[in-house]
Amino acid sequence: MSMETENVVARLKSSGLFRTKGLIGGKWIDAYDGKTIEVYNPANGEVIASVACMGERETKDSIASAYTAFSHWSKLTAAERSTRLRKWYNLLIEHKEELGQLITLEQGKPLKEAIMEVVSGAGHVEFFAEEAKRVYGDILPSPQPDRRLFVLKQPVGVVGAITPWNFPFAMITRKVAPALACGCTVVIKPSELTPLTALAAAELALQSGIPPGVLNVVMGDAPKIGNALLESPQVRKITFTGSTAVGKKLMVGAAETVKKVSLELGGNAPFVIFDDADLEAALKASLATKFFNTGQTCICANRLLVQEGIYDKFINAFSNAVKSLKVGNGFSEGVAQGPLINEAAVQKVESLVQDATSKGAKVILGGKRHNLGFTFYEPTIISDVKNEMLIARQEIFGPVTPIIRFKTEEEAIQIANDTESGLAAYLFTNNIQRSWRVCEALEYGIVGVNEGVFASPGAPFGGFKQSGLGRESSKYGLDEYLEIKCVCMGNMG
Ligand code: ADP
Repeated sequence: MSMETENVVARLKSSGLFRTKGLIGGKWIDAYDGKTIEVYNPANGEVIASVACMGERETKDSIASAYTAFSHWSKLTAAERSTRLRKWYNLLIEHKEELGQLITLEQGKPLKEAIMEVVSGAGHVEFFAEEAKRVYGDILPSPQPDRRLFVLKQPVGVVGAITPWNFPFAMITRKVAPALACGCTVVIKPSELTPLTALAAAELALQSGIPPGVLNVVMGDAPKIGNALLESPQVRKITFTGSTAVGKKLMVGAAETVKKVSLELGGNAPFVIFDDADLEAALKASLATKFFNTGQTCICANRLLVQEGIYDKFINAFSNAVKSLKVGNGFSEGVAQGPLINEAAVQKVESLVQDATSKGAKVILGGKRHNLGFTFYEPTIISDVKNEMLIARQEIFGPVTPIIRFKTEEEAIQIANDTESGLAAYLFTNNIQRSWRVCEALEYGIVGVNEGVFASPGAPFGGFKQSGLGRESSKYGLDEYLEIKCVCMGNMG
């Protein structure tokens, strides 16, 4: 281990936050067969930890713990659950730097971004600690004079939460906070690539007085864990963030026991810049929206659509800005671009760039691996891209910006919507009528108008079309963990 890693790990150990076992019923547990898997630092390939590699049996036991815990957690008052969530929030913020360092270590993003992730992810815990107290029922007009009709909202039960590696912390809190606020209990399955952050967050949940069994963590064999969650009739809800392919499998698997399902899947965000846009603002926002997390987010600008009148001018200014992005280990000062998560991610980026250039697109900047080695890739700009090319149809998940030229507003809308995805879209124009027209025409769940990447605990997050089902964050996110019970009281005359 490098000195840097040793220091981070030592600091985490001293706070009890360096956990490598699964969490079942409040106990840290090895895989039953003793199997482990290694977690790597993507910036230099070193092994950070060996963690328990769990499967079906451990998952079944976690479900049983969550099921038992549900009977008391769901019966606490909303205020009691809120107090515990609030304590969890306070502890997460207190440890934001250590958690941030852990994210950088196992995921690679620049430390500043990692700490931002902790603050915004913890914000969900704070938000849902407050919302816990606002799960209101309804009294409805009665159809007959001797009846009374009302609606109760009740927690769905045990939730299976499957999360990805790109936001190892925030994807956990976004799911767990609303679930716990409603009275649900959870089995989390974090990505095998970044389980350490999830385990540290779970340790802080225990420290905050969230009772054993309310929050469980199993990791290891994804299909085995996933199937155990899907097959169990006790799991009443699956919430997932990840690839569209896996999301579809989970949706099919959930059908057998007719579980509630929320899916936050891949995106193919268009970032549309019209001739009449404020170019400075568009430049700043497109840079942030493309290169945030080294391009590894589902709401990253996947395609820049630039109108012909400003096409050359924009590319020129954009290249100058991209050239100044510092690439390196996320722990180094001033680094804006970390490594990609693994070799497979780099190979995917390479093949998309290769496909585009073989079909006539031009590399303006970058276009190859960075000389830092490992999984570093140069911040890249590719012009003359056509929407038919693979790079404009698939999620790139890397620091590559394909630029497409368009002539008219109609053409921009047509290109923007010509995809199976519908998560985030962005448009820049100073024409107010156009901003409304285009915003309404975009088939996307999240639209930034003269605004780049944005997300907040109070804003609903989710997609149209194959980008998913349901919404996370906000008051709408709470509904995903609630059942509606309609009660009719008769003989009231
Ligand atoms: P990504 O490409 O972002 O890694 P994945 O969809 O492969 O997206 O992974 C997201 C999460 O889904 C991870 O926690 C991963 O382990 C999990 N996963 C992958 N395959 C399955 C599966 N068959 N069943 C359940 N979970 C799975």
